[in-house]
Parts: sequence; structure tokens; C-alpha cells
Amino acid sequence: MSDVLQVEDLRVRYHTLAGPVRAVEGVSFSLKKGERLGLVGESGSGKSTTVLALLRMLKPPARIEAGRVLLDGEDLLQLSEDEMRQARFAKISLIPQGAMNSLNPVMRIKAQLLDTLQYHRQQNGHATRGEMLDHIHYLLESVGLNPAVANMYPHELSGGMKQRVCIAMGISLQPRVILADEPTSALDVVVQRQVMETLGKVQEAIDASLILVGHDMGLMAQFVNTIGVMYAGKLVEVGPVDDMFEEPLHPYTQMLIASLPSLEGKGVFKGIPGITPSLLNPPPGCAFHPRCPKVMDQCRAVVPTLQEVRPGRWVSCLLY
Ligand code: SF4
Repeated sequence: MSDVLQVEDLRVRYHTLAGPVRAVEGVSFSLKKGERLGLVGESGSGKSTTVLALLRMLKPPARIEAGRVLLDGEDLLQLSEDEMRQARFAKISLIPQGAMNSLNPVMRIKAQLLDTLQYHRQQNGHATRGEMLDHIHYLLESVGLNPAVANMYPHELSGGMKQRVCIAMGISLQPRVILADEPTSALDVVVQRQVMETLGKVQEAIDASLILVGHDMGLMAQFVNTIGVMYAGKLVEVGPVDDMFEEPLHPYTQMLIASLPSLEGKGVFKGIPGITPSLLNPPPGCAFHPRCPKVMDQCRAVVPTLQEVRPGRWVSCLLY
């Protein structure tokens, strides 16, 4: 399978009065057609910033300092603002965190979906308003909603229904890549499962690739093919989901997986000691060294890089 998306050496900084915050520092990965990549890590590790950078939706003081985002060989970071607006939804789309805040509260669902379709009229091939309304009904049905939802306002919908509307919007133009930023974090577990099933179904139907951002390792284990673990703005481990759970290689991934509650653990929770480092002044050497149980002298001075240590297993750690 060929790569649909290639991210190379992406760097994003927040330019604050206290100095530049290195939110994303040299992130590289690729995504194959139909692949599902899960980006996990603690809050502030750079997951959401990475996703927003791919869409060029970061606002000042954030700035993309370097890197390439190749979608089917075209660098999104080199497109003009107008070309990028055309690419959003049609080539790469976002299903945002917190559907409650992403829908316009004073517009009917129909009008919000129509907005996207009308803007991209050329690409979606629906020339008339009637064709676009038919497509909206089809989209709502495909995410498990009654087409009558089109005439409703967001406040008339439950959290799960609003998230389904956001999924419908995200797939409305059959993008090549869907970015889902914690799409179910505000939902209860039953609705969460249903919404994820819907997302998986529609992603497969349009044969898109998907990046899922989240904290929930259980959800990742069930949903994605590949996991990328982020720490302090960098990818520290990437590999197939089953291998990562069976034998995590990076000490941080090992601790993340060990912190998952288990039936055998009988209520004993293992946290990861320490706090995430300041990205204003990250620790020298490996950023994880102040918290790492396997720290060596060289870890305090040498910055590890992401290396393929086994076929398909990439780790950034001086142990390998
Ligand atoms: Fe731990 Fe050193 Fe590996 Fe960093 S490089 S994760 S400090 S062993």
C-alpha cells in the first residue's frame, strides 16, 4: 500500500512572552491508504497541535516553523490560503473535540452542512441545491441519524447525535484523510462505542485514512492499526497496535500501558511519577529522563532520535 500522507520533520512553536514553546519538535510519520493511526500521550504532548498543523488551523502565537505535510505528494504547507481552504473537507478533514462547541448554535444542521457543500460545489459534483439536500440526507443516514435531523438546531440533539453530525460533515466530501481529535471524550462509554463504530464504518466506506487523537488506550487498542506515542512534542514510539501492547519498547510506553487498570490489578492503579516537562525549557538530552526508571548517564546529554529498531517498530530511546 502506498503512503497517502507523509509528515516530515514538522516543527511548531508557540511564541509567548516568556519565549518559544516547542510544542511539536521534528515529528515525522506516514499513513497508508485506509490505515488508522492513533496518536496518544499526556495532555500537552503535542497531539492536537500536530493535527491542527496538518490542517494549517493553528492561530498565533503558534507558528509552523518547518517541515512538510505531503498529501498524495502535494505539500499542504506550500499551498496558498485559498488552495488550503479548498483542500479542507475535500482532501483532509477534521472531526473536532467537543461537538457541542463546534456546531453553530443558531443555524439548523441542514444549513451548516449546506455551507460546506456550497463552498466546495465544484468538487462535490452536486450542482443544484436539491442534489445537495439529497446528499445531506444520505450523509445523515450514513452516520445513523434520521434525515429529519437536518431541520433541527444543535440544542435539540444529544451529545452523541451532535458528534454524528460532525462525522457527517467530516466525510461530506469524501476526504483522503480524516483527523479525529478526541471525538468521543465528552460522551458516556456506551454512546462512545456506538459513535466510534459509526466513524469506523464511514471511514471504511469512503476508503479514507484516519488519525485518531486521544488518551484512551483501550479505545485505541480496539480501533487503530498503528499507534504513535508522543511525549514532550516528539514521537517516542510508533508501531503496530498489537505489538505495542504485547511488548512496548520505550520506557514511557511501558509505563503508559502498565498504568491501564486491569481486572487482575484489583483496584491498584500505577501512575507515572513526575510531571510533564515544560516545553519552554525542556530537559537536556532525552526529555523523559527525569521520570524514566531506566535512565542512564548519557540520557541527560544525548538527544535520542526515532529509529527503526525492528521491522515496523520505531523507538526514540538510547536503550536501543
Ligand atoms: Fe529513558 Fe534514557 Fe530511553 Fe530516555 S533515552 S527513555 S531516559 S532510557
